[in-house]
Amino acid sequence: MMETIIKVSNLSVSYGPIQALRGIDIEVRQGETVTLIGANGAGKTTLLQTLSGLLKPREGTIELFGENIGRKPPHERVKMGLIHVPEGRAILGRMSVEDNLLMGAYCRDDEKEIQEDMEKIYNLFPILREHARLPARTLSGGQQQMLAIGRGLMARPKVMMLDEPSLGLAPIVIGEIFSIIRSLRERGITVLLVEQNAKQALKVADRGYVLENGRITHADTGINLLHSEEVLKAYLGA
Ligand code: ATP
Repeated sequence: MMETIIKVSNLSVSYGPIQALRGIDIEVRQGETVTLIGANGAGKTTLLQTLSGLLKPREGTIELFGENIGRKPPHERVKMGLIHVPEGRAILGRMSVEDNLLMGAYCRDDEKEIQEDMEKIYNLFPILREHARLPARTLSGGQQQMLAIGRGLMARPKVMMLDEPSLGLAPIVIGEIFSIIRSLRERGITVLLVEQNAKQALKVADRGYVLENGRITHADTGINLLHSEEVLKAYLGA
Protein backbone atom coordinates (compact mmCIF):
# COMPACT_ATOMS: atom_id res chain seq x y z
CA MET A 1 0.00 0.00 0.00
CA MET A 2 1.32 3.43 -0.95
CA GLU A 3 1.85 6.10 1.66
CA THR A 4 -1.18 8.33 2.31
CA ILE A 5 -0.33 11.91 1.41
CA ILE A 6 -3.62 13.70 2.00
CA LYS A 7 -6.36 12.42 4.26
CA VAL A 8 -9.50 14.44 4.70
CA SER A 9 -12.03 13.25 7.26
CA ASN A 10 -15.58 14.46 7.84
CA LEU A 11 -14.78 17.91 6.44
CA SER A 12 -17.49 20.56 6.42
CA VAL A 13 -17.05 24.13 5.21
CA SER A 14 -19.54 27.00 5.21
CA TYR A 15 -19.71 30.50 3.81
CA GLY A 16 -21.81 32.10 6.52
CA PRO A 17 -25.16 30.33 6.30
CA ILE A 18 -24.29 28.52 3.07
CA GLN A 19 -22.86 25.08 3.66
CA ALA A 20 -20.54 24.35 0.74
CA LEU A 21 -19.02 21.02 1.90
CA ARG A 22 -20.65 18.36 4.07
CA GLY A 23 -18.83 15.48 5.69
CA ILE A 24 -16.18 15.02 3.00
CA ASP A 25 -13.81 12.03 3.26
CA ILE A 26 -11.06 11.70 0.70
CA GLU A 27 -7.63 10.17 0.51
CA VAL A 28 -4.76 10.75 -1.90
CA ARG A 29 -1.79 8.37 -1.91
CA GLN A 30 1.81 8.77 -3.00
CA GLY A 31 2.20 9.18 -6.76
CA GLU A 32 -1.50 9.05 -7.53
CA THR A 33 -3.40 11.37 -9.81
CA VAL A 34 -6.82 11.85 -8.24
CA THR A 35 -9.57 13.92 -9.81
CA LEU A 36 -12.56 15.68 -8.31
CA ILE A 37 -15.40 16.16 -10.74
CA GLY A 38 -18.82 17.67 -10.34
CA ALA A 39 -21.12 20.38 -11.64
CA ASN A 40 -20.63 24.11 -11.16
CA GLY A 41 -21.06 25.02 -7.54
CA ALA A 42 -20.61 21.46 -6.26
CA GLY A 43 -17.80 22.60 -3.94
CA LYS A 44 -14.64 21.58 -5.80
CA THR A 45 -12.87 24.94 -5.52
CA THR A 46 -13.96 25.23 -1.89
CA LEU A 47 -12.30 21.89 -1.14
CA LEU A 48 -8.98 22.89 -2.73
CA GLN A 49 -9.03 26.26 -0.96
CA THR A 50 -9.64 24.53 2.35
CA LEU A 51 -6.79 22.10 1.74
CA SER A 52 -4.43 24.96 0.97
CA GLY A 53 -5.52 26.87 4.09
CA LEU A 54 -7.36 29.75 2.43
CA LEU A 55 -10.65 28.67 4.03
CA LYS A 56 -11.23 27.32 7.52
CA PRO A 57 -13.27 24.17 8.01
CA ARG A 58 -16.25 24.21 10.34
CA GLU A 59 -15.68 20.59 11.15
CA GLY A 60 -13.36 17.76 10.25
CA THR A 61 -9.63 17.17 9.88
CA ILE A 62 -7.00 17.47 7.16
CA GLU A 63 -3.83 15.43 7.40
CA LEU A 64 -0.80 15.95 5.17
CA PHE A 65 1.87 13.24 5.43
CA GLY A 66 0.11 12.03 8.56
CA GLU A 67 0.26 15.43 10.27
CA ASN A 68 -2.86 17.36 11.17
CA ILE A 69 -2.44 20.65 9.28
CA GLY A 70 -5.81 22.16 10.14
CA ARG A 71 -4.22 25.07 11.99
CA LYS A 72 -1.30 25.71 9.68
CA PRO A 73 -1.34 28.86 7.56
CA PRO A 74 -1.07 28.46 3.77
CA HIS A 75 2.67 29.25 3.53
CA GLU A 76 3.53 26.46 5.94
CA ARG A 77 1.53 24.02 3.85
CA VAL A 78 3.48 25.25 0.81
CA LYS A 79 6.72 24.53 2.65
CA MET A 80 5.49 21.00 3.29
CA GLY A 81 5.11 20.59 -0.48
CA LEU A 82 1.38 21.20 -0.98
CA ILE A 83 1.03 23.54 -3.95
CA HIS A 84 -2.19 25.05 -5.26
CA VAL A 85 -2.48 26.20 -8.88
CA PRO A 86 -5.70 28.20 -8.60
CA GLU A 87 -8.60 28.53 -10.98
CA GLY A 88 -8.02 31.46 -13.32
CA ARG A 89 -4.25 30.93 -12.97
CA ALA A 90 -3.57 34.07 -10.92
CA ILE A 91 -0.81 35.23 -13.24
CA LEU A 92 0.49 38.75 -12.56
CA GLY A 93 0.01 40.20 -16.02
CA ARG A 94 2.31 43.20 -15.80
CA MET A 95 5.17 41.23 -14.33
CA SER A 96 7.50 39.35 -16.65
CA VAL A 97 7.09 35.65 -17.26
CA GLU A 98 10.39 35.09 -15.45
CA ASP A 99 9.33 37.05 -12.36
CA ASN A 100 6.06 35.13 -12.25
CA LEU A 101 8.05 31.91 -12.21
CA LEU A 102 10.38 33.20 -9.50
CA MET A 103 7.37 34.05 -7.35
CA GLY A 104 6.73 30.33 -7.12
CA ALA A 105 10.00 30.00 -5.19
CA TYR A 106 9.08 32.58 -2.57
CA CYS A 107 9.30 30.04 0.24
CA ARG A 108 12.82 28.94 -0.77
CA ASP A 109 16.23 30.51 -0.21
CA ASP A 110 18.51 28.09 -2.09
CA GLU A 111 19.49 30.56 -4.83
CA LYS A 112 21.60 28.20 -6.89
CA GLU A 113 18.98 25.48 -6.98
CA ILE A 114 16.29 28.00 -7.80
CA GLN A 115 18.27 28.94 -10.91
CA GLU A 116 18.68 25.28 -11.82
CA ASP A 117 14.95 24.72 -11.44
CA MET A 118 14.22 27.74 -13.66
CA GLU A 119 16.37 26.09 -16.31
CA LYS A 120 14.44 22.82 -15.97
CA ILE A 121 11.13 24.62 -16.31
CA TYR A 122 12.30 26.45 -19.41
CA ASN A 123 13.31 23.08 -20.84
CA LEU A 124 9.89 21.68 -20.01
CA PHE A 125 8.08 24.74 -21.45
CA PRO A 126 10.38 26.27 -24.11
CA ILE A 127 7.70 28.82 -24.96
CA LEU A 128 8.18 30.37 -21.50
CA ARG A 129 11.89 30.82 -22.17
CA GLU A 130 11.11 32.56 -25.45
CA HIS A 131 8.82 34.97 -23.62
CA ALA A 132 10.80 35.20 -20.38
CA ARG A 133 11.20 39.00 -20.40
CA LEU A 134 7.74 39.85 -21.66
CA PRO A 135 4.80 40.79 -19.47
CA ALA A 136 2.86 37.64 -18.64
CA ARG A 137 -0.36 39.14 -20.00
CA THR A 138 1.07 38.83 -23.53
CA LEU A 139 0.88 35.01 -23.27
CA SER A 140 -2.06 33.07 -24.67
CA GLY A 141 -4.46 31.28 -22.30
CA GLY A 142 -2.69 27.94 -22.71
CA GLN A 143 0.72 29.53 -22.21
CA GLN A 144 -0.55 31.26 -19.06
CA GLN A 145 -1.71 27.89 -17.75
CA MET A 146 1.78 26.50 -18.45
CA LEU A 147 3.20 29.48 -16.57
CA ALA A 148 0.89 28.78 -13.62
CA ILE A 149 1.99 25.14 -13.53
CA GLY A 150 5.64 26.15 -13.98
CA ARG A 151 5.32 28.60 -11.10
CA GLY A 152 3.86 25.79 -9.00
CA LEU A 153 6.80 23.55 -9.90
CA MET A 154 9.21 26.25 -8.70
CA ALA A 155 8.02 25.49 -5.18
CA ARG A 156 9.21 21.87 -5.55
CA PRO A 157 5.80 20.37 -4.92
CA LYS A 158 5.17 16.94 -3.53
CA VAL A 159 1.47 17.35 -4.18
CA MET A 160 0.03 19.66 -6.79
CA MET A 161 -3.60 20.74 -6.69
CA LEU A 162 -4.77 22.00 -10.06
CA ASP A 163 -8.08 23.87 -10.24
CA GLU A 164 -9.66 23.68 -13.69
CA PRO A 165 -6.44 23.90 -15.70
CA SER A 166 -8.28 23.37 -19.00
CA LEU A 167 -10.87 26.11 -18.42
CA GLY A 168 -11.42 28.34 -21.43
CA LEU A 169 -8.77 26.71 -23.61
CA ALA A 170 -9.13 25.48 -27.20
CA PRO A 171 -9.38 21.67 -27.59
CA ILE A 172 -5.88 21.25 -28.96
CA VAL A 173 -4.41 23.25 -26.08
CA ILE A 174 -6.49 21.23 -23.60
CA GLY A 175 -4.75 18.14 -24.97
CA GLU A 176 -1.37 19.73 -24.23
CA ILE A 177 -2.39 20.60 -20.69
CA PHE A 178 -3.51 17.02 -20.04
CA SER A 179 -0.22 15.68 -21.34
CA ILE A 180 1.57 18.03 -18.94
CA ILE A 181 -0.57 16.58 -16.14
CA ARG A 182 0.56 13.10 -17.19
CA SER A 183 4.17 14.25 -17.10
CA LEU A 184 3.76 15.50 -13.52
CA ARG A 185 2.94 11.97 -12.55
CA GLU A 186 6.05 10.71 -14.33
CA ARG A 187 8.05 13.11 -12.17
CA GLY A 188 6.61 11.48 -9.09
CA ILE A 189 4.38 14.40 -8.19
CA THR A 190 1.07 13.49 -6.59
CA VAL A 191 -1.78 15.35 -8.28
CA LEU A 192 -5.24 16.40 -7.12
CA LEU A 193 -7.06 17.66 -10.18
CA VAL A 194 -10.35 19.58 -10.26
CA GLU A 195 -11.96 19.54 -13.69
CA GLN A 196 -15.19 20.35 -15.50
CA ASN A 197 -13.78 18.35 -18.34
CA ALA A 198 -14.71 15.13 -16.59
CA LYS A 199 -13.99 12.69 -19.39
CA GLN A 200 -10.39 13.70 -19.92
CA ALA A 201 -9.81 14.08 -16.20
CA LEU A 202 -11.02 10.53 -15.52
CA LYS A 203 -8.77 9.25 -18.30
CA VAL A 204 -5.60 10.63 -16.70
CA ALA A 205 -6.65 9.87 -13.12
CA ASP A 206 -6.01 6.72 -11.13
CA ARG A 207 -9.05 7.48 -9.03
CA GLY A 208 -11.84 10.00 -8.93
CA TYR A 209 -14.44 11.45 -6.61
CA VAL A 210 -17.74 12.91 -7.74
CA LEU A 211 -18.97 15.89 -5.73
CA GLU A 212 -22.63 16.86 -5.74
CA ASN A 213 -23.99 19.67 -3.60
CA GLY A 214 -21.06 19.53 -1.25
CA ARG A 215 -21.07 15.75 -0.77
CA ILE A 216 -19.06 12.92 -2.28
CA THR A 217 -21.54 10.73 -4.17
CA HIS A 218 -19.14 8.39 -6.00
CA ALA A 219 -15.59 7.26 -5.35
CA ASP A 220 -13.89 4.79 -7.68
CA THR A 221 -11.06 4.26 -10.11
CA GLY A 222 -10.93 6.68 -13.04
CA ILE A 223 -11.78 3.88 -15.45
CA ASN A 224 -14.78 2.66 -13.47
CA LEU A 225 -16.18 6.17 -13.17
CA LEU A 226 -15.61 6.69 -16.87
CA HIS A 227 -17.79 3.64 -17.54
CA SER A 228 -20.41 4.25 -14.86
CA GLU A 229 -23.81 4.87 -16.47
CA GLU A 230 -24.89 7.22 -13.74
CA VAL A 231 -21.75 9.32 -13.95
CA LEU A 232 -21.88 9.20 -17.72
CA LYS A 233 -25.39 10.61 -17.72
CA ALA A 234 -24.73 13.32 -15.21
CA TYR A 235 -21.29 14.55 -16.20
CA LEU A 236 -20.07 13.10 -19.42
CA GLY A 237 -22.87 14.28 -21.66
CA ALA A 238 -24.07 10.80 -22.60
P1 ATP B 1 -17.03 26.08 -9.94
O1 ATP B 1 -16.57 25.06 -10.90
O2 ATP B 1 -18.12 26.95 -10.44
O3 ATP B 1 -15.92 26.84 -9.26
P2 ATP B 1 -17.15 24.49 -7.60
O4 ATP B 1 -17.57 23.06 -7.63
O5 ATP B 1 -15.73 24.78 -7.51
O6 ATP B 1 -17.77 25.24 -8.80
P3 ATP B 1 -17.42 26.17 -5.31
O7 ATP B 1 -16.89 27.36 -6.01
O8 ATP B 1 -16.56 25.49 -4.36
O9 ATP B 1 -17.93 25.11 -6.38
O10 ATP B 1 -18.78 26.57 -4.61
C1 ATP B 1 -19.51 25.71 -3.74
C2 ATP B 1 -20.72 26.44 -3.17
O11 ATP B 1 -20.32 27.48 -2.31
C3 ATP B 1 -21.62 27.09 -4.22
O12 ATP B 1 -22.94 26.95 -3.81
C4 ATP B 1 -21.19 28.52 -4.21
O13 ATP B 1 -22.27 29.35 -4.59
C5 ATP B 1 -20.83 28.74 -2.75
N1 ATP B 1 -19.75 29.74 -2.62
C6 ATP B 1 -18.53 29.69 -3.19
N2 ATP B 1 -17.79 30.76 -2.83
C7 ATP B 1 -18.56 31.50 -2.00
C8 ATP B 1 -18.38 32.72 -1.28
N3 ATP B 1 -17.21 33.39 -1.33
N4 ATP B 1 -19.40 33.18 -0.54
C9 ATP B 1 -20.56 32.50 -0.47
N5 ATP B 1 -20.82 31.35 -1.12
C10 ATP B 1 -19.84 30.85 -1.88
